[in-house]
Amino acid sequence: MKSRRNTITYKQQNGARLIYGYSMDSKELNSTYNLRRAVLIGMCTLLGCLSFLLGIINIAIEAKWITLGFIELLYAICSFTLAIIAIKRRHQFWQVLLYIFTLTAIVIYAVSLSQTINSMICWVLVLPTVYYLLLGKKLANFPVIILFTAVIAEIIVKYGSTLNPLLINFIFSYLLIWVVSHTYEKNRADSESKLQKLALQDPLTMSFNRLALTKYYEDIVANQSLLTLADEVHLLILDIDFFKQVNDEYGHEAGDIVLQESAKIISKIAGNKQTFRIGGEEFCVMIENKKQDDAIALAQQIRMTLAQHTFKLKEQANINITVSIGLSSYRKGIALPNLLRQADQRLYRAKHNGRNQVIYHNDPIAVSA
Ligand code: GH3
Ligand code: MG
Ligand code: MG
Repeated sequence: MKSRRNTITYKQQNGARLIYGYSMDSKELNSTYNLRRAVLIGMCTLLGCLSFLLGIINIAIEAKWITLGFIELLYAICSFTLAIIAIKRRHQFWQVLLYIFTLTAIVIYAVSLSQTINSMICWVLVLPTVYYLLLGKKLANFPVIILFTAVIAEIIVKYGSTLNPLLINFIFSYLLIWVVSHTYEKNRADSESKLQKLALQDPLTMSFNRLALTKYYEDIVANQSLLTLADEVHLLILDIDFFKQVNDEYGHEAGDIVLQESAKIISKIAGNKQTFRIGGEEFCVMIENKKQDDAIALAQQIRMTLAQHTFKLKEQANINITVSIGLSSYRKGIALPNLLRQADQRLYRAKHNGRNQVIYHNDPIAVSA
């Protein structure tokens, strides 16, 4: 498209906008973690107090219960410690697994201690819900089955293998709690993943959005060794040149089609998961595991493919667009807003230098068109 605009326009807009003042925390999306943390803190505190009380009572009452009493006191200490860890900082999953394993073992031990099936059976019926709340629908099945089998074995050892009311009532009430907990957790996890998808996707182009970019960046920085990351992660910001003219000349709907098709083309080259729509006609691409030269080559490929593509709009109108790209590379410890800011400054220089080009460092001659 022919330039009818002053290049200063981009600078004015760019200076005025606060595109990196974006502050939504991607952790807010992870309601599962928050739910599990709240359940864990509540449960550890409650069971810690109960266990402490029972431990004291069991040690004081009778010599027979002394071992159980000490186990309960130990369990109380573990419960309070885990509650404090979960309150103060991020707890680890293995700590929850260990806690669940210990709780299950204590309940099975307590059920086996008495000659008859005593009031400990109440805890057995509560645990499946706890497992699902803390471990999720896949992992919860293991402790649910272990506890079920252990208690059935205890009932059979104590009352024989004939069908008795206790056995039948236990089997059916346990199965009911199991099914209800499983259904609840499955629905909750499904709704969460649907909501996450809605929160992370741009409805027009179906590309991921800025929040998804924050989350993606957190993940790659957390998962990779920071020593090797410097060579491997790059980020580009792409802005369609004179896009306002497309809207003005062909209408907003035509502009939407150009955005949708552009998103598809970028995703096809750079990968769907790596492509993010971060503004009206601006996209960001994360490039991983590539040296800077390869990242520049990829940016050029995107630029040229878009420039060569003919967008077929309504009423036989065919148009071509160009894009300007600013590329920045990860350096150890650099935060996403700084990486974006650097790419955006280079994008501005690409605009200023005549558009339809990739700028990848601060040297004025480093233009690759
Ligand atoms: P430059 O080369 O300096 O980037 O010029 P430009 O016209 O592309 O930039 P400008 O920021 O002036 O215009 C961007 C336009 O993008 C203005 C706005 O109406 C349009 N736009 C933003 N979001 C959408 C959208 O979702 N759909 C459509 N059709 N247009 C959009
Ligand atoms: Mg723009
Ligand atoms: Mg533009």
